Amino acid sequence: EKRELLIYKDRKVLTKDGKRIEVAANISSKEEVDVALKYGADGIGLFRTEFLFMNRETAPTEEEQFEVYKYVLEKMDFRPVIIRTLDVGGDKKIPYIDVGTEMNPFLGLRAIRLCFERLDLFKTQLKALLRASIYGNLKIMFPMISKVDEIKRAKEILEDVKAELKKAGQKFSDKIEIGIMIEVPSAAIISDLLAKEVDFFSIGTNDLIQYTLAVDRMNEKVSNIYEPSHPAILRLIKMVIDNAHKEGKWVGMCGEMASDISMIPLLIDYGIDELSMSAPSILKVKKEILKSIG
Ligand code: PEP
Ligand code: MG
Repeated sequence: EKRELLIYKDRKVLTKDGKRIEVAANISSKEEVDVALKYGADGIGLFRTEFLFMNRETAPTEEEQFEVYKYVLEKMDFRPVIIRTLDVGGDKKIPYIDVGTEMNPFLGLRAIRLCFERLDLFKTQLKALLRASIYGNLKIMFPMISKVDEIKRAKEILEDVKAELKKAGQKFSDKIEIGIMIEVPSAAIISDLLAKEVDFFSIGTNDLIQYTLAVDRMNEKVSNIYEPSHPAILRLIKMVIDNAHKEGKWVGMCGEMASDISMIPLLIDYGIDELSMSAPSILKVKKEILKSIG
């Protein structure tokens, strides 16, 4: 069965309407790039950079991060690589990044919220990303955006960092796309406004389902309520894709739903442009997309 799937490895997948769908890999370390390529990833749809910050005593330096991002971009050889800025807090705790005691960590100082509090960490990461951008096709993505002000502020900080690099005579690409995760219900609901601020969206269904249905994604006692095909979720997904396309922006999906074979025909019908998943799922997803055109 696995060998049979290998025929899909280098296939670009088109829908029956002739639309190209990118099938990309989620990674959380530079080592996983080889796995992504082995399974025929068209790109990296989500690099969860928080894993670079885990299991160590201090944050990785700009230089350390630069080396990792450069490595991934070079290995992917100008295929698209979406690198998500630090998403800690919630379930991902890091001893040297103190968010205090929180009653509801998933609703607390997490992801972009934490980055705004810790500009030292945020700017260091953005600097490393910008410097690495000349080695491939980098797209930067911000997590947990819940309102327009947050993406405006993130872009302002990015511009500040660009100005600092320019002053220091350091090079970076001028073609970096900027995107956000759509994983908070408010972001989905105002996706018409957010679409004007970015180049792309990536729908994070893991958190979008958790927050929309008020169900902890880690709690087995309520896992029966964690329902990806709940009409509320499907309506939000459709709305996000329509609002992005109205502004001429593209939409990916990087939560678990992206590799759920039973959902793929619907997502394609809604107009999804990219699906990103753990690498071993890529071939079966490519096969499923191609099935409709034979
Ligand atoms: C998501 O929320 O769907 C997502 C892809 O991000 P993470 O699983 O890292 O929270
Ligand atoms: Mg998430």
